[in-house]
Amino acid sequence: PYDPKPFQNLESHGTSGVALAKSNNTVKAAFVVLVRNSELDPLRASMRQMEDRFNHKFHYPWVFLNDDEFTEEFKAKTRGLASGETLYGKVEDSMWGYPEWIDQTKAREARERMEAEEVMYGGSESYRHMCRFQSGFFFRHPLMLQYDYYWRVEPGVEFSCDVDYDPFLLMQEKDMKYGWAVTIKEYESTIVTLWDTVKKFMKEYPQHIVPKHDPDSLLPWISNDGGESYNLCHFWSNFEIGSIKWMNSPAYMDYFNYLDKSGGFFYERWGDAPVHSIAAALMLKKDEVHWFYDHGYFHNPFGHCPREPEWVANEKCLCNPKDEERAFGKLIPGLELILIVRNVHKLDTHWYS
Ligand code: GDP
Ligand code: MN
Repeated sequence: PYDPKPFQNLESHGTSGVALAKSNNTVKAAFVVLVRNSELDPLRASMRQMEDRFNHKFHYPWVFLNDDEFTEEFKAKTRGLASGETLYGKVEDSMWGYPEWIDQTKAREARERMEAEEVMYGGSESYRHMCRFQSGFFFRHPLMLQYDYYWRVEPGVEFSCDVDYDPFLLMQEKDMKYGWAVTIKEYESTIVTLWDTVKKFMKEYPQHIVPKHDPDSLLPWISNDGGESYNLCHFWSNFEIGSIKWMNSPAYMDYFNYLDKSGGFFYERWGDAPVHSIAAALMLKKDEVHWFYDHGYFHNPFGHCPREPEWVANEKCLCNPKDEERAFGKLIPGLELILIVRNVHKLDTHWYS
């Protein structure tokens, strides 16, 4: 059994705040990590890097969410790595379960069919609850409502460049709503009816949509034919820096509720990445989204490493700018990654240096 003794002196650290260094965090913001107890070790590796690269200078809090209770070991071993407050939240059944309009037999049949078709996570029930939670609930979990911005972190990712400025402050000062590091293409078989559902939403809620002829519209990022079809491009949501107020806005909530009612989180396997990305591209303007180009980031099997020396001092990055090629060498979708990243680069979004 786990012996908490070696960690007893951490009681004055973490949530009590007593032993924390003077805080530099000026924005109401936190890291948010949805995680299982079994992922403690890879989570600690992610935290260690985030602390070393960024947070030891800023001491932003960490919020851990779980559909199960966190163990004492989990709490002690995460609190001990955090230079900011640590908060632990249970995700209640109202945010992690079937809404009453879902036909659970139909949902099970969909899982069985997608499992047989070898769709990634196609047979997984918990993955669907996870994607729905990340799409429509994490930002209104009681622990998150006190913050204006979140930075999503996952177990087992790599943050490989020093971050010498405060990305939350950048978001706040420029009134940006959504930031990302990597874009890739979604598996079409997981979102067969998503775009049709989005098109119906756009018809019913035109007040939430940036008109497609507006020069600030981001529609061309996700559609190559003026909105007729979805090009599958999405911001990879395992890295996200976003606005909690925007996600709690009537626009985003109407969008999420509309998608949720259609049942696609369960009858297909809609991911939170395309759901967030489509929302950002339809409801935000160009200068409200930001590519954190200067962040070195890796989540298996893709990564991003800055390569323009004028944007980031090379010696501050551990990653290899050839990481993208590394992904290319492993998997065909890596090619799409490179092309999409290059495309985004060409678009007129602003960089921070
Ligand atoms: P992938 O990145 O799409 O391969 O999916 P992951 O397995 O990494 O899951 C995405 C995030 O949700 C990670 O932070 C996981 O730790 C978390 N997660 C996934 N499934 C569950 C679950 O059933 N319970 C909890 N508490 N966290 C989960
Ligand atoms: Mn992951």
